[in-house]
Amino acid sequence: ETVIVLFNRDLRVHDHPALSAACERGRAVVPLFVLDPAVPAGRRTPFLLACLADLREGLRARGGELFVRRGDTVAETLRMAGESGATAVYAGADVSGLARARERRLAGAARIEVRLFPGVTVVPPGLLRPSGGGDHYRVFTPYWRAWSAAARRPLLPPPERVEVPSGLEPGALPASAAPGGESRARGRMTAWAREHLAGYADGHDDLAGDRTSRLSPYLRFGCVSPLEVASLGNEAFARQLCWRDFHHQVTLAFPRIDRDDYRPRGHAWHDDAGAEQAWKAGMTGLPIVDAGMRQLLAEGWMHNRARLITAAYLVRQLRIDWRTGAAHFFDLLLDGDVADNYGNWQWVAGTGNDTRPNRSFSPIRQSRRFDPAGDYIRAHVPELAAVPAPYVHEPWLSPRPIPGYPRPLTSPAPR
Ligand code: FAD
Repeated sequence: ETVIVLFNRDLRVHDHPALSAACERGRAVVPLFVLDPAVPAGRRTPFLLACLADLREGLRARGGELFVRRGDTVAETLRMAGESGATAVYAGADVSGLARARERRLAGAARIEVRLFPGVTVVPPGLLRPSGGGDHYRVFTPYWRAWSAAARRPLLPPPERVEVPSGLEPGALPASAAPGGESRARGRMTAWAREHLAGYADGHDDLAGDRTSRLSPYLRFGCVSPLEVASLGNEAFARQLCWRDFHHQVTLAFPRIDRDDYRPRGHAWHDDAGAEQAWKAGMTGLPIVDAGMRQLLAEGWMHNRARLITAAYLVRQLRIDWRTGAAHFFDLLLDGDVADNYGNWQWVAGTGNDTRPNRSFSPIRQSRRFDPAGDYIRAHVPELAAVPAPYVHEPWLSPRPIPGYPRPLTSPAPR
């Protein structure tokens, strides 16, 4: 009996329920990844390739192999079943519309048994249902309570041996120097937890301190199991992982989260190509916004507090459609993920669930509070590198001209 393990965004050997189940009882296993043009990774491609190279190493160390193919995932999986004689496909269950369409197409193929396993979230999406009825939680706090009390499956060790059938071509994998992969993810998780986990509640909003885990790209590609990350402990940190699960269970119930307002608010959005470009380029003239947007351009990552500030500025001050901002983030973020990106954007825009859209929000107050010395701004906006603290937040008040830095696009928000 031969089983294909179809990898997707679970690029690891530790705590991999589908891989562990396939390796039981000495069955032959075909670990497979399909580079599918329908799932363009864009800026994430080098990171993905590094993840795949590391996964291949992890499987080889256990006697196995990672088979890489290019093309339509379903067609290539069925072709591989034909070549290897596999009768079943095991895969991680996912939530996005694209992933679920693929799962349905695979399941519809007559020749093969398809089994889906948990592993993309801490608690499987759809498992927890609100007591008042409905197929998902719309509000975070009751979800957090149910999530905290939910039973957890045990963590799985990597399989000792992965027996692959002989005679299959592994498939070429372009080299990549990006820092992706399970080995790095595990190293980062351990080192960060030792140094910063205990101080997470106090430190995670300090923009210049940069003390969050930066595990998000690794979680995005499943280089580390979210269940294992949650098992590190610390309530404030677990709460962030619960937000991740929360958005995943919303996406399972509402797969058009990337397009349609979850809860329409009847906003009229402004079209303003100039303002949109200035926001994308980090040239709005509002330093905290520009620092975040330039961090995104430079690193493919942005601190959570800066994501909140830059997103709120786009939808509240510029009144530009959240879809415009979300698409830009999704293109550039290494952790760009359907549930987390669009869920958070809708939350900020007030079209999502559990939002208080009329809560007042001042980017300048945020700037003073979360980057009091202005060091985050100075690190990302070199034009302001020499501007002292009070003016670094509001350079238009500075008595000296600041060459090269634009005047604010909008009249500054109330302070
Ligand atoms: P930590 O603070 O160390 O948190 C640990 C993990 O918890 C993160 O790696 C992430 O997986 C999860 N997490 C933390 N905050 C959130 C949150 N608000 N929602 C969901 N999960 C969370 N995160 C993504 O992974 N992908 C995205 O595409 C994404 N887009 C976002 C867009 C906007 C507008 C906003 C406001 C937030 C977005 N986030 C997204 C959530 C959050 O900003 C990042 O997960 C976080 O900044 C990653 O840094 P970290 O790993 O150091 O986080």
